[in-house]
Amino acid sequence: MRSYTDHLWFNTKNRRELVNITPQVAEAVKKSGIKEGLCLVNAMHITASVFVNDDEGGLHKDFIRWLEKLAPYGKELYDHNRTGEDNGDAHLKRTIMGREVVIAVTGGKLDFGPWEQVFYGEFDGQRKKRVLVKVIGE
Ligand code: ZN
Repeated sequence: MRSYTDHLWFNTKNRRELVNITPQVAEAVKKSGIKEGLCLVNAMHITASVFVNDDEGGLHKDFIRWLEKLAPYGKELYDHNRTGEDNGDAHLKRTIMGREVVIAVTGGKLDFGPWEQVFYGEFDGQRKKRVLVKVIGE
């Protein structure tokens, strides 16, 4: 079995952003040379997510609005913010949107279902953060 590890770096302009990272993940799979296996993609920070869904602008606005209803931004709203931080909402948003995804690699390519794309969900951005990509297989 072979394995390949890569890191993708992000520093989003906005505090909250959903970024399509499918091209970077596909590039990592290509570099790995692995034809049959699995590709793990995970956010390495506890206020950011990796998830698979549709690359449709309206849906992305829906996600952000829905997350804001579930866990609105607000310094006074969270016990976590008593530490002096203001990102209690971002920890909750990250948890509901997920830490990682695993995508099958078939014939050297990401084996997605119809319309599936992989996204980096940033909920406390404007600073350097990274995503791990690990490809294992033959
Ligand atoms: Zn925090």
